[in-house]
Amino acid sequence: MKVVVLSGGVGGARFAQGLIDVIERSDLTVVGNVGDDVEVLGLHVSPDLDSILYALAGLNDDERGWGRANETWRALETVRELGGESWFQLGDLDLGLHLVRSQALRAGEPLSAVTERIAHAFGIETRVVPATDDRLRTWIGTPAGEFPFQEWFVARGHRDEVDSVRFEGNEDARPAPGVLEAIAEAELLLVAPSNPYVSIAPILAVAAIRDALEARRVPAVAVSPLIGGRAVKGPADRMLERLAGGTSPAHVASRYPGLIDAIVVDEADADDLDGLGDVRPIVTRTLMSDPSARKGLAEAALGAVAV
Ligand code: GDP
Ligand code: CA
Repeated sequence: MKVVVLSGGVGGARFAQGLIDVIERSDLTVVGNVGDDVEVLGLHVSPDLDSILYALAGLNDDERGWGRANETWRALETVRELGGESWFQLGDLDLGLHLVRSQALRAGEPLSAVTERIAHAFGIETRVVPATDDRLRTWIGTPAGEFPFQEWFVARGHRDEVDSVRFEGNEDARPAPGVLEAIAEAELLLVAPSNPYVSIAPILAVAAIRDALEARRVPAVAVSPLIGGRAVKGPADRMLERLAGGTSPAHVASRYPGLIDAIVVDEADADDLDGLGDVRPIVTRTLMSDPSARKGLAEAALGAVAV
């Protein structure tokens, strides 16, 4: 069964790991968010694509939740000693990837092409493709002013409440090669349990991607990133509360109007299913605490196709 999943970083990467335990690796296409991309120390960093690549390659640090296992930080120590830009955590192993990607981009290679090359070199058989090769950047509006995504998320520790989210460059952004083709061929479209505002919305901000999902002839299923109305990690619950007025499954589904037919929600949210309208709830355990839990969640989402 051919499947496309829209994905942010860690939540999406864990879900993708579950999916390839159930379907053929090569039948999955992961469309990754690039709104978080950032230039640090002259390097182009794509944190969400990297979380996906590291997870699918089995190189990720499961405990820390991001970056590579067995990471060391010596290069960053030198950066600090020299008074360089050290607010963004870049490990030594991680830096190697950023060097290769940055050189390729500088030489004119599109992000999708270098991502494909890196995936291949890591032995990944799943297609990992950025939503767009064009420059698209998330900006966060807060009471303290508007910040580029990583300045709000990392440098300020996402402590500011969010009043608005915008995607610089989205109007001209075209889907990366392969995205629309994968959507057209898919038998099932999935939205990972990623942050709806800052991981999935930047993908949907590419108009041709949103249009293709609206025009789908196959089921589309989102997985909620909330358990008992709370984010497992990060600011998704605070953002939903403030921007959508609540953290129920209906509030999550409201971020994907006309784009999903079902939503996978946790057992902890099973009493709170009002307001879903046409969107069918699928209730299961959604905490991806280990490989079998990830696989179970993937099976629940994939099961939507049989109905
Ligand atoms: P990021 O780009 O690295 O921040 O990652 P994502 O946007 O892909 O994922 C972040 C979201 O994943 C958060 O809102 C979490 O609540 C959610 N998340 C993380 N782990 C789990 C899990 O085990 N189950 C569910 N349902 N959501 C999770
Ligand atoms: Ca992210």
